[in-house]
Amino acid sequence: MGNLKHYYQALKNGDVFFDEYRKSALILASVTVLHAVFLIFFALTGVKLMAVYNFIIIFAYQGILLLIKQKKTYLAYILTCIEVVLHGILATLFVGFGSGFQVYCVAMIAVSCYITFTWECFKRGTGETVAFSLFSVFGYFVCYILSKYWTPLVALNETMETIMYVINALFMFLIIFCFMMLLFWDINHRSDKLMAKNNQLDEMSKKDPLTKLYNRRYMNYELNRRMSYLLGEGKIFGLIMADIDNFKSVNDTYGHEAGDDVLVAVANEFTNALRGDDCVCRWGGEEFLVIINGNHQVTSDVAERIRKRIEALTIDTNGHQLKVTMTFGVSESIPGLKIEKLIQIADERLYKGKQSGKNCVVKE
Ligand code: GH3
Ligand code: MG
Ligand code: MG
Repeated sequence: MGNLKHYYQALKNGDVFFDEYRKSALILASVTVLHAVFLIFFALTGVKLMAVYNFIIIFAYQGILLLIKQKKTYLAYILTCIEVVLHGILATLFVGFGSGFQVYCVAMIAVSCYITFTWECFKRGTGETVAFSLFSVFGYFVCYILSKYWTPLVALNETMETIMYVINALFMFLIIFCFMMLLFWDINHRSDKLMAKNNQLDEMSKKDPLTKLYNRRYMNYELNRRMSYLLGEGKIFGLIMADIDNFKSVNDTYGHEAGDDVLVAVANEFTNALRGDDCVCRWGGEEFLVIINGNHQVTSDVAERIRKRIEALTIDTNGHQLKVTMTFGVSESIPGLKIEKLIQIADERLYKGKQSGKNCVVKE
């Protein structure tokens, strides 16, 4: 029972365990059971030829499974469709339309929708779905027309006919229901996978691959968002433009990889020093831009706090212990001033800091 539940969940969640071959095996096992029921019915009603036909077909379906194993899925499905129609026609000839063996042509439309949509060998084009469905319609009407002009070879008693009709109709509904569920699960699974991939791509398009901080593109979006909050709700914010001092000499002395390690360590320091509603990005090579949710004084205090943290930081890289400092330029949001202007002010103050000895915060 536990195993059954496990398989059910695997099927529902699109688990890789249920590849095309295993799904086919499951479907063909159900078809075999169905034919075994037919075999019993025909044996009980004395329709020997149909009993023999069903006996042979049970083995023929093992051959169809073999075709699927050899990746001849297309051929396997065509043969299955032909068998369903053929069985409907033969059963109508032997025991009549009233026994309901033609209803499997109706059920086959649901199966065709599922198979043509999910099986790899089908191109998920509606053309194939329509073609297989039309074949089902053809099979059904051949049975109907036969019933009009052909007297069944075996006259079943009414009870047996009714029992078989009810069994066939119930199986038809069950097949339609099961294949519709399989189709829904498959669609759900595909859209979940697509959404996860989308989220991953979305995240990748926002982040800098080295430091995992936001990139410049995302920061521009965030700056515009904050600016509209400023204009709408009067929510002020501050900007910090920060640049690592003498970073070129780190690269030149210890190599580019050591430089990268420094960038990652500094980026982590920014992330750890900031609150959730602040936002930091890697603006350029060794430049970081921070949006602080607060006024000019708060922004300057945060910049000073980060400066001290960076100054105190020791970075282990390639057996070396490196120390770096940073210079910070701070600006405040002023309604009416363009974002580019705010960044320019922070940049000019950063430049001023570089001119006046570095490792400092310039706020005016
Ligand atoms: P200053 O104190 O005036 O800012 O001097 P600086 O040496 O930090 O500035 P400069 O602009 O002369 O050099 C910046 C260096 O940053 C040069 C460039 O090779 C390096 N850099 C930019 N991006 C990366 C990166 O992704 N990894 C590494 N390792 N280095 C980078
Ligand atoms: Mg620098
Ligand atoms: Mg620079």
